[in-house]
Amino acid sequence: MQTICPQCHSSTVYEVFDHTHDLVFEELLSPAAIVGLSVGICKALKVPPVVGVVAGTAIAVARQHDAVPLLVNKPYRCSDCLHEF
Ligand SMILES: [Zn+2]
Repeated sequence: MQTICPQCHSSTVYEVFDHTHDLVFEELLSPAAIVGLSVGICKALKVPPVVGVVAGTAIAVARQHDAVPLLVNKPYRCSDCLHEF
């Protein structure tokens, strides 16, 4: 099945494989890093660290749900009009 640009209807589209920035970003914000960061913020705010563990875990779980469609959905870029879809 040929992929066609929805903007200019050109068939010269290619998959965007350059996810280097996303991978670095994901590594920086790994679940363990998020929990650690949350505990650090709680200590700074003189809030019990357990609050940070709970909040950090919730954020990490929410982020993992967000990350799944990103991995499944490969973006395409049109080489004629540079439209991404
Ligand atoms: Zn196009």
